[in-house]
Amino acid sequence: MTSPAKVTVIGAGIVGIVSANFLQRDGHAVTVVDPRPPGEGCSRGNAGNISPGSCLPIALPGVLANVPAWLFDPLGPLRLRLGYLPRALPWFARFARAATRDRAQATAYALRTLHVRTLDLYQSLISEAGAPDLITRPGQLHVYETEEAFAGALLGREILHECGVEMQELDGPEIRDLEPSLAPIFARAVFFPGHGFCLSPLRLVQTLAEKFVRSGGTILRRTVTGFEIGPEGPERLHTDAGDLDVDTLVIAAGAWSGKLTARLGDKVPLEAERGYHLELPDPGTVPSRSISWGERKFTATPMEMGLRFAGTAEFAGIDAPPDYRRARILLTHGKRMFPGLNGEGGRVWMGARPTFPDSRPVIGPSTRHGNVFYAFGHSHTGLTAAPMTGKLIASLVAGRAPEIDLAPFRVDRF
Ligand SMILES: Cc1cc2nc3c(=O)[nH]c(=O)nc-3n(C[C@H](O)[C@H](O)[C@H](O)COP(=O)(O)OP(=O)(O)OC[C@H]3O[C@@H](n4cnc5c(N)ncnc54)[C@H](O)[C@@H]3O)c2cc1C
Repeated sequence: MTSPAKVTVIGAGIVGIVSANFLQRDGHAVTVVDPRPPGEGCSRGNAGNISPGSCLPIALPGVLANVPAWLFDPLGPLRLRLGYLPRALPWFARFARAATRDRAQATAYALRTLHVRTLDLYQSLISEAGAPDLITRPGQLHVYETEEAFAGALLGREILHECGVEMQELDGPEIRDLEPSLAPIFARAVFFPGHGFCLSPLRLVQTLAEKFVRSGGTILRRTVTGFEIGPEGPERLHTDAGDLDVDTLVIAAGAWSGKLTARLGDKVPLEAERGYHLELPDPGTVPSRSISWGERKFTATPMEMGLRFAGTAEFAGIDAPPDYRRARILLTHGKRMFPGLNGEGGRVWMGARPTFPDSRPVIGPSTRHGNVFYAFGHSHTGLTAAPMTGKLIASLVAGRAPEIDLAPFRVDRF
């Protein structure tokens, strides 16, 4: 291992804060830079699933055939703002090319290696931080209203099976035995016994950030606006509150990362895939685990703040104002899912998933600068993937061999 360094991490989401914790374990002096408090980006509002077996890409064969029906259904899971279409088209063209069985299988294997140890890695982090009960492991349920939709997801189950993911298929009566809170409208389900969830994704980031600061780390509330590049790579960050000297740099700025890496010579096809949640503080009925609805593409998770319904995808660009009708649709679905659901007092939220067309993140060195490492683009599974990503970044900075093959996550794969 190389001697301890001064490391600056851009981004205080789950990926940046977990990376900062692992870098600190190696003895580095670590500074995290973000204009917002820790966790206030996409990491705040997700569905909380920590799912070692969630390794399927979105680009599966046949997915594009569903797009028209999704777009024309006012309660559907997908929105594309028309004015944004010309900018999004190249991304969708890459997405279409990624939707083959071979590429989906390759992505699933790669994501499985990234996710498989997540719960154990988190347990060590939250135990050290003094909050060992923040994550619970009751398994996760994926429910389907129709046999047709369940049959349509067969290829995904085959790929997961090949990746060694443990699953149990359930019929209607078995679903009701396992989860009596659900309406009796679901014909089939898949139970993932090895999955868990987080009681509060925001408190998770905050807890790990507090532990990082208690252990000597620094968090600066600033926006990085540019880089001063010397012969060995970036030497100084320009920020909205003055310049900062840097030795080693980690870019973990979620959906905003592409703007930063372009200035460092790496252009990437990263989209802001916006998602919404609706959180009910007093739902009146609470499932005992996280439940995802296969056809509707959202998840209901019993968190410490209430029952959170999270999901949907919207392509509108990173800066467009939120359209909270997308979140309120989730109440319509939630009421069908859980009889007697109390929808009063619902809180809405929108966040931008950092998404590449192949659903893989970028983890690894920059192509141009030896002192720059990337950790972004985790799309639908950034909460799950953060611990191994942080470990990998620490290994790269230390000059150790990475724990898994990083070829599928290279920045120059596009
Ligand atoms: C509705 C929804 C449900 C989801 N459910 C799940 C789930 O159940 N399980 C799961 O694993 N994943 C889930 N995800 C995905 C997960 O939330 C994301 O992949 C993850 O939060 C990304 O984390 P991040 O740290 O990369 O980004 P962020 O949390 O967005 O953090 C990036 C940070 O970078 C900062 N930043 C940006 N630009 C700059 C700059 N120039 N200078 C300084 N700082 C900057 C931002 O302010 C931000 O704080 C879900 C996402 C959504 C939207």
